[in-house]
Amino acid sequence: MRVINPATGRVVREVPDHDETYVRGALQRAARAFEDWRWTAFEDRAARMRAAEGVLRDRKDRYATLMVEEMGKTLPSAEAEVEKCAWVCEHYAEHAAAYLAPEAVPTDASRSLVRFDPLGPVLAVMPWNFPFWQVFRFAAPALMAGNVGLLKHASNVPGCALAIEEVFRDAGFPEGCFQTLLIPSSRVEAVLRDPVVRAVTLTGSDPAGRSVAAAAGRALKKTVLELGGSDPFVVLADADLDLALTTAVTARILNNGQSCIAAKRFIVEEPVADRFEADFTRRMEALRVGDPMDRATDLGPLAREDLLVELHDQVTRTVAAGARLLTGGRRLDRPGFFYAPTVLAGVEPGMAAHDEETFGPVAAVCRVRDADHAIALANRSAFGLGAAIFSRDTERALALAERVEAGSVFINGLVKSDPRLPFGGLKASGYGRELGVFGIREFVNVKTVWVR
Ligand code: NAP
Repeated sequence: MRVINPATGRVVREVPDHDETYVRGALQRAARAFEDWRWTAFEDRAARMRAAEGVLRDRKDRYATLMVEEMGKTLPSAEAEVEKCAWVCEHYAEHAAAYLAPEAVPTDASRSLVRFDPLGPVLAVMPWNFPFWQVFRFAAPALMAGNVGLLKHASNVPGCALAIEEVFRDAGFPEGCFQTLLIPSSRVEAVLRDPVVRAVTLTGSDPAGRSVAAAAGRALKKTVLELGGSDPFVVLADADLDLALTTAVTARILNNGQSCIAAKRFIVEEPVADRFEADFTRRMEALRVGDPMDRATDLGPLAREDLLVELHDQVTRTVAAGARLLTGGRRLDRPGFFYAPTVLAGVEPGMAAHDEETFGPVAAVCRVRDADHAIALANRSAFGLGAAIFSRDTERALALAERVEAGSVFINGLVKSDPRLPFGGLKASGYGRELGVFGIREFVNVKTVWVR
């Protein structure tokens, strides 16, 4: 696995794949670890999870720098990501026992109850865009539930993959509880088919999700899929426009524009559309693009050159289909994989920037006649991950939220994940939930116990 620093275009490290013997050994270690780990008390698991929280906080600088080097996010956002991982460890250390407490159900039995027992080793196929957070939001609940984890991370972040294994090892988790497998995607199905593996979760693009879900279907294994999105960001005529604009810029450029829940389609009601387009363009042009290690930088590079080429192709096709390019639309003339902040106006269904996920700093603005038109357009997408609605009339926004086909709707705010709240999507954005009580109940055996 070859790591190229996206800010310079230079190779920073090469890491050999794990061979078949290593992978077989890891599967055996996972199976052995599960036989002990599944019987540990919640307090013991929680003590180790709190130790993981401590390791993360102690090594924040090192892990944040590693993320910047491997995938180019800005340093403050990488530091915030390590903090958020510590938070999810803390959250599940504190709440897992209550989330999974057996529930009594009154029936004709003298006693009947529902237990939430662990499943076994769970394979996690993860993306590079939040290289720590995506893994911890799977691992913290899965381990607290008594499962053990096997990580197949994206091929461009092997340093992060090994660092996460180190966190759990140094926090005192027993051998085999959490292991990284450095393997390409072509070897995922063989691991998934192994009887030791009981379930699989994938966070990534929808083609990867379809492929892994098909393989899991053949092996009859449970899946959770957290896939892409083309989140609508609805601005109604009665919105606080300044708040909407400030949030719109952050929502689009978050993580250098490479977030599943970044706002991608800005659906603006006609009376405020001219002002929104002009102000939004001005604010996007004012962003400081540059070295992600420089704390003054707003927008860093894209993670890989092929992603930049794909993004530019989407912009070119959208303009060719009739959209107006208000700013950007080009690669920056400097080393690394930098793309200019881009705003496209007059975007409609059928155009690439509307129908496909744009993974970079490219905003598509669509005009709508009224709120009904806005919701119809918001739902006219293959995806259904997050959505935002900006309006001063909260009751009206709440009523509209009910009609939005998405896993979460944020009113007058930035769509974000939170350890306390369920996170996930529908349609091509996948299925299942992470985080909160719903997330920890994905990889458990919901077991009925009945006593005469
Ligand atoms: P990706 O190319 O789909 O890769 C994701 C992971 O899947 C990587 O580990 C990749 O391994 C593996 N993979 C790809 N194709 C596979 C296949 N056919 N079989 C088995 N494994 C396969 O996605 P990405 O570029 O890393 O991440 C960006 C995508 O993730 C975006 O679509 C984004 O929206 C989505 N995402 C979703 C969420 C969410 O919570 N819904 C969160 C973050 C990101 P290799 O690297 O070795 O190819």
